[in-house]
Amino acid sequence: MPDSTRTSADGDCAPWAGGWYRPARRLDSPNFGSRPDGTTIDLIVLHSISLPPGRYGGGEVQALFTNRLDVSAHPYFEQIRGLQVSAHFYVRRTGELWQFVSCDDRAWHAGASSWRGRANCNDYSIGIELEGLEGERFEAEQYEALATLCPALARRYPIEALAGHEHIAPGRKLDPGPGFDWAHLQLALGWPDAAFPPRAGPA
Ligand SMILES: [Zn+2]
Repeated sequence: MPDSTRTSADGDCAPWAGGWYRPARRLDSPNFGSRPDGTTIDLIVLHSISLPPGRYGGGEVQALFTNRLDVSAHPYFEQIRGLQVSAHFYVRRTGELWQFVSCDDRAWHAGASSWRGRANCNDYSIGIELEGLEGERFEAEQYEALATLCPALARRYPIEALAGHEHIAPGRKLDPGPGFDWAHLQLALGWPDAAFPPRAGPA
């Protein structure tokens, strides 16, 4: 929905209205909670999603994140019936950006997870879903969207690093998968090696 509450008072963080990124299309998810007191939001977690898997362009992901997915519409959806999940952001194949949860709040995207010895990544991370499928490539427009969004996040939060869901829940999650080009993103962002997951060797 359009943001009708913008004021000139927060001109210092012009792209932001609280934890909402103004350039994104806003669709409020009920699936969120407060972050623990004193949390330092310093990690961006990248995911991939498409519903049903491999089909792009529909509204099913937005429906899932707002608990309005019609589970009768496709056999796969029975597997995710009743799932209450969300991410802060969703980047479509076209680069179109959606936001479901304020970045000041805790979205439900990571599940059981750990990053550099800290558990429960949802507490301290920003979750970004890329429309896609594990193992498939992503679109230039999606990297461009990330190249704009990640620096905007880093200006508002003390972001230290990016990781994939596969890196914070190894063995359990595989997204965004080997089709995601971390080197491309690093080149676009100009962030140091320490801000990225270690490069995997040959499988
Ligand atoms: Zn994921």
